[in-house]
Amino acid sequence: MVGAGPVGAFAAYRLARMGIDTILIEALPNCPEDMRASTFHPPSIEMLDALELSEALIADGLKAPVYQYRDRRSGQTIELDMTELSEVTPHPYRLQCEQYKLARLASARLDAHPCGTALFSHRLLAFEQDDTGVTVQVETPMAVEQIRCDYMIGADGANSTVRKWTGIGFNGFTWPESFLTLSTAYPIEQHIKGLANVNYVADATEWCVLLRVPTLWRMLVPAPGGTGIDYLSDAYKSGVFDRLVGDGKAVETYHRTLYRVHQRVAETFRQGRVLLAGDAAHLNNPLGGFGMNSGLHDAWNLTGKLEQILIGGEPADPLLDRFDRQRRTISHEFIQSQTIQNKEAMESTDVDGRSLQESKLRALLDDKEARMRHLLAQGMFTSLRREAEIA
Ligand SMILES: Cc1cc2nc3c(=O)[nH]c(=O)nc-3n(C[C@H](O)[C@H](O)[C@H](O)COP(=O)(O)OP(=O)(O)OC[C@H]3O[C@@H](n4cnc5c(N)ncnc54)[C@H](O)[C@@H]3O)c2cc1C
Repeated sequence: MVGAGPVGAFAAYRLARMGIDTILIEALPNCPEDMRASTFHPPSIEMLDALELSEALIADGLKAPVYQYRDRRSGQTIELDMTELSEVTPHPYRLQCEQYKLARLASARLDAHPCGTALFSHRLLAFEQDDTGVTVQVETPMAVEQIRCDYMIGADGANSTVRKWTGIGFNGFTWPESFLTLSTAYPIEQHIKGLANVNYVADATEWCVLLRVPTLWRMLVPAPGGTGIDYLSDAYKSGVFDRLVGDGKAVETYHRTLYRVHQRVAETFRQGRVLLAGDAAHLNNPLGGFGMNSGLHDAWNLTGKLEQILIGGEPADPLLDRFDRQRRTISHEFIQSQTIQNKEAMESTDVDGRSLQESKLRALLDDKEARMRHLLAQGMFTSLRREAEIA
């Protein structure tokens, strides 16, 4: 397994628990304290249950059963309550917990498992595959070493060496604007009445997402680019918070990062014995919190098939081809289209001067069936049901 992000660490730990000898290599000395994903959807929490990882993450996170869609200009708020899904899942909430907590927990559990090894400061350089396995060249602090394995999974993120080395295309596009994330311990909830732990605030000029994790608020806003503005400066930070809570200078940030945002899917998630999962296979904007979650769903699907092959003795090709078909179809049909729609809803204004988001969602309030469809789609149940139907 290449990459100890949330997807690689989770997949490697599941394989080890199945009794499959698994080596996880990670280029960095530890799983990075990444401030990207912080939302786990219910089906992902159920997968974490099966690996006995959920209890620790729930204890280290926040449960968010309610999420809000707000309109920045009209001030209108539409609130959806995931407890309406109580009959569908034991976890009718979003778990707000930083992604590095999963990566670190799963890597540590892997390394403590008799079938698992986690090697940090080990960077994949190159590999070759033949009919019986894959030979991997790994740069360690001391030397370049060779590892031989039956299958290799590239969970090495957006700039995946595994994907580039195979020559698999990564088609799609990059949004012209970047996304700025800021995190702060400032009590934003004391300045915005009735704020939930997860809030999507629509606006044609400056939409924003406000998410809470146990000790911080995380804010995401667009950064239009090409303007000569230093988005990471104190002045820009103060402006963002002036517009949100009034006194932006008083808001100290714990962290600020500017991200380029892409919508891309690999041409295939499989080349022989080399497989792709997570950001190595697909990228999307973060509106809806689907990136890491869909990577965990890739990992779940793929490790299930590797168990059938390596423990059950079933033929590999049909199963691995099906993994590719299932997860690539979901990436296109659901993850890409839904995240593009979510972004459009946040930033568009319709003819009545309301946000597209508000116009679309208001209809859900009096229509239980439509509301359930929305909650199931945004909670990622619908995509997993669709995945199961793909032959
Ligand atoms: C602002 C923002 C907010 C987001 N919020 C959410 C959210 O709430 N919910 C959600 O589901 N998703 C979210 N995402 C997306 C999410 O962060 C990613 O989808 C997720 O990190 C993908 O995990 P991964 O394990 O596939 O890749 P990564 O987390 O990128 O991990 C890849 C790992 O591979 C290692 N690596 C790279 N190259 C090599 C090599 N050659 N050899 C060895 N190791 C290597 C890297 O060091 C890294 O540790 C967000 C993204 C952004 C930008």
